Amino acid sequence: MPVKNRFSDLLPEITAWRRDLHENPELLFDTHRTSAIVAEKLESFGCDEIVTGLGRTGVVGVIKGKSDESGKVIGLRADMDALPIHEQTGLDYASKTEGAMHACGHDGHTAMLLGAAKYLSETRNFDGTVVVIFQPAEEGGGGGKEMCDDGMMERFGIQEVYGMHNWPGQPVGSFAIRPGAFFAAADQFDIEIEGKGGHAAKPHETVDSTVVAAQMITALQTIASRNADPVEQVVLSVTSMESSSKAYNVIPQRVHLKGTVRTLNEDIRDLAEKRLTEVAEGVAATMGATAKVTYHRGYPVMVNSDAQTEFAADVAASVAGTCAEAPLVMGGEDFAYMLEERPGAYILVGNGDTAAVHHPEYNFNDDAIPAGCSWWAEIVEQRMPAG
Ligand SMILES: [Zn+2]
Ligand SMILES: [Zn+2]
Repeated sequence: MPVKNRFSDLLPEITAWRRDLHENPELLFDTHRTSAIVAEKLESFGCDEIVTGLGRTGVVGVIKGKSDESGKVIGLRADMDALPIHEQTGLDYASKTEGAMHACGHDGHTAMLLGAAKYLSETRNFDGTVVVIFQPAEEGGGGGKEMCDDGMMERFGIQEVYGMHNWPGQPVGSFAIRPGAFFAAADQFDIEIEGKGGHAAKPHETVDSTVVAAQMITALQTIASRNADPVEQVVLSVTSMESSSKAYNVIPQRVHLKGTVRTLNEDIRDLAEKRLTEVAEGVAATMGATAKVTYHRGYPVMVNSDAQTEFAADVAASVAGTCAEAPLVMGGEDFAYMLEERPGAYILVGNGDTAAVHHPEYNFNDDAIPAGCSWWAEIVEQRMPAG
């Protein structure tokens, strides 16, 4: 069973929605225009219930099937927010907003789920209930968590959740997925090293915070190489080093390090946080300085449930012929919070040979729309078959 014919018919319309969203990107929770468009379209499709303002600017639509013998409720989730990037695609529908751009394809995700909602509202060829979820602030704001914190799962009785992301470098319209840990926990840290500043020609009268920082950066790499089990993944990157002096002849009093830690299971995450603090404080103490470590936990590990992943892969294969095994991704994904609350699965749909996500020349590939929409619709029709 290839893509659904209805989505080939709807392609020009869905593409027009997508390009309008692309032209008008909105950041984090400020998805006011996008959320209004989503709510208005769900209304025009004849959704049974529409709720706005969940997770601040999130929108939820409820679509009931022809029957509800199964009592099943499935959540389908798309993200709506853009990135603070200056677009350099040269497209005629490029961003009209300076410093904001749909560089992760959330314009495409929103348009595809709207397309599926339109089809599902028209056909209702399933036994149960679908909840379409449009979340703000995937790119660092935790909009998915806020929707969960607002009681979304309980309020709509959602039993399973599914999500999708486009993937550059994967053949357009093809699918890839993996069970278990899929996207990494994405944490951040700050380390304030305090030494004793002074004249650069009299180091013996100072505690040189830059030398402490240099030792510390090297020592922190032993968390991955010496503390974590070698078969586990942990990435620790120091991404910024700022000293309190800009002079050639001053040993700075302070150095501020920043960075990120990516892990794929909670034990390794705990270990990385513990060792990061111990190593930073220990190296500083050894050299007569102090280190104040602040560890900020970001999105948790995103874990696909086994049964739902197998089902999602079968559905993808029914749409595209096959479904590949996806690689582990050390990036973070806010859908992790929804998967912590309910079993479900997250899949990648190929965006073809395009610039990578978060690149100023990236663009969502509209050719992926029929496959993406078909996967959504088939998830519903195959999980809750009409009697
Ligand atoms: Zn992104
Ligand atoms: Zn994204």
